[in-house]
Amino acid sequence: MPANPMNKYAIVIHGGAVTMKPGQLTPEEEAHQREGLSQALQAGWEVLHDGGTALDAVEAAVTSLENNEHFNAGRGSSLTEQGEVEMDASIMDGSNLKAGAINSVKYVKNPIRLARAVLDQGSPVYLASEGALEFALQQGLALEAPDYFKTEKTRKQWLEIIQQQAEPQQQDTVGAVALDQHGNVAVATSTGGIEGQVKGRIGDSPVLGGGSYASNDACAASCTGDGEVILRGALAHEVYALVKYKGLSVVDACRAAITLRDEELQGDKGIIAVDTQGNVALEFNSNVMRRAYRIGEEEPVVAIWRDE
Ligand code: ASP
Repeated sequence: MPANPMNKYAIVIHGGAVTMKPGQLTPEEEAHQREGLSQALQAGWEVLHDGGTALDAVEAAVTSLENNEHFNAGRGSSLTEQGEVEMDASIMDGSNLKAGAINSVKYVKNPIRLARAVLDQGSPVYLASEGALEFALQQGLALEAPDYFKTEKTRKQWLEIIQQQAEPQQQDTVGAVALDQHGNVAVATSTGGIEGQVKGRIGDSPVLGGGSYASNDACAASCTGDGEVILRGALAHEVYALVKYKGLSVVDACRAAITLRDEELQGDKGIIAVDTQGNVALEFNSNVMRRAYRIGEEEPVVAIWRDE
């Protein structure tokens, strides 16, 4: 365990990176999202402040975002082409490299809690669809009927895509990274995927090294944006490797990962990261990334648009 003599702690969260036209985000929706980010940040920060683990902190922050219908994870998840919810999540503990991942899960109220239960059990590390649901039932995790997950907004977006045969729209995954007072980092990422996505599509969010990676050797990173390009670039692991082997700061590592093979890996990309010294990064190439962070007792920071 690396020394953390100052007992420094920090948490960073995101609620999705996306390119939006002016006016696409209503002032009401923007206000809801800012409030949701503040609440989730507070939930994670309290765990760290009270001396809890980074793992518990990221789970608490992401659970809060999953319970909030204004984000695309848990309640408020995007709908597939068939109008169903299929959720993906992953969580990783940088202190011991334990991890849990799940994909294409229905009915589970908090996919991140399911991923955490997978992590706690130890092996297997990754469970999919019905197998993951059975495990959730064994663990006594809270379930909800399909209607719980669908909101007016997601139904409307789905109808527009189906009726106009529009392209599937990128949505807004949620994620968190944290450093605790004991010097450990952790990551959690959760998503409903992309609105109108084909059945069985899986993005980067549940994939270790793709949407999530954490190791006390360097840092924790959570990605959002175009899942296909993030997966192909293994961007969460890229950030880790740039910090560990090239000695880059987390900010420079996230910037380099976002521009990795830029010709081939075009798309919206956002990455949050924290290292074992409490340095944080919130980098993105879109005009929007819902984001927030708080370092120790400093004031929390919440932002949505690039220029704030
Ligand atoms: N990366 C997510 C996915 O591809 C979507 C997002 O972050 O907006 O499923």
